[in-house]
Amino acid sequence: MKKIQMVDLKGQFEKIKEEVNTSMQEVLETTAFINGPRVHQFQKNLENYLGVKHVIPCANGTDALQIAMMGLGLSPGDEVITADFTFAATVEVIALLHLTPVLVDVNPDDFNISIDAIKKAITPKTKAIVPVHLFGKCANMEAILNIAKEHNLFVIEDNAQAIGATYTFKDGRKAKAGTMGQVASTSFFPSKNLGCYGDGGAIFTNDDHLAHMIRGIVNHGMYERYHHDVVGVNSRLDSLQAVVLDAKLPHLDAYNKARQHAAKKYNEAFKDEPAIITPKGKSTCQGICDTCDCHVFHQYTLRVIGVDRDALVSYLNENGIPCGVYYPIPLHKQKAYLDNRYKEADFVITNQLVKDVISLPMHTELDDEQIDFITSKIKTFIHG
Ligand SMILES: *Cc1c(COP(=O)(O)O)cnc(C)c1O
Repeated sequence: MKKIQMVDLKGQFEKIKEEVNTSMQEVLETTAFINGPRVHQFQKNLENYLGVKHVIPCANGTDALQIAMMGLGLSPGDEVITADFTFAATVEVIALLHLTPVLVDVNPDDFNISIDAIKKAITPKTKAIVPVHLFGKCANMEAILNIAKEHNLFVIEDNAQAIGATYTFKDGRKAKAGTMGQVASTSFFPSKNLGCYGDGGAIFTNDDHLAHMIRGIVNHGMYERYHHDVVGVNSRLDSLQAVVLDAKLPHLDAYNKARQHAAKKYNEAFKDEPAIITPKGKSTCQGICDTCDCHVFHQYTLRVIGVDRDALVSYLNENGIPCGVYYPIPLHKQKAYLDNRYKEADFVITNQLVKDVISLPMHTELDDEQIDFITSKIKTFIHG
């Protein structure tokens, strides 16, 4: 059996090596390292893939989120509602812009932002909602878009974990994750579903004016050379990263299918284990059917009930199985984001999830033998 890894970038690289090496060599020969034609080419290809009007590449997913908020013209004191159970980048950029983060609880079944909690958190100062499509599954966008419309709020999708996922509205209409709100951000960090070989990110929008604003913001607030109309940042995707992304993009659906295959194997192995709650997709398909992409499994995250989660983590590590706890501490309990308006009673689910969750190895190169080994070790731990 191959050594089990949390993420196997090397195995994936072997299959696109020639194309990546050739394209990288071309970039080196042309020396078009920044804003070169390859960045533009990738941008166009991603626009076509997503069915979105504008993709604006930038330096990383955190910048993408910050720039999206800057582009919308949010101002200090504006309240931005987001999930308590996510990576810190989401809340960090809200705070950096002197906006007021309002963290709210999530759902116990799909770990995504709770619609009831959003409704409770809206005040006259609320300006935006940031749903995070956590672990590869879209938040309840139908409800979020309705709430946003009713209260005149922006929706900024943090799509760092769900690129390639498809959301289906009640009327049957489908949309790719990151194309439903006013604006979305994504990350091309190497371990993400579409990852480059360094840092990278992008902003997506269908709004021409917003796209124009954002193109200036990523480039020092310049809309005309050496005229700085707004305060901007310097945030660029470089050409060497763009060629990696362009080599991978045609395989993204196959990569996500490989993740779904692994998820299906895991789910089947655990279906008769009362102590294990497996991740859910749409209620009809559980995210693992062959025909829909409602879940692209950036992480495969279980909840273990009545099991010592931390002892399970140690046991798996001792048996050569890496695993992760995403996320071990709720954001509302992080020193940087403490706020005396928060009440513990408002975070019942997140407070529980941080004790229950465990993410198993999940990547495009995981094979059935490895999955069988992982699931049998977990069963041995639970049943002795
Ligand atoms: C990875 C990630 C980010 C940040 O992306 P970087 O490219 O690392 O800056 C933001 N939000 C979420 C939910 C993420 O998973």
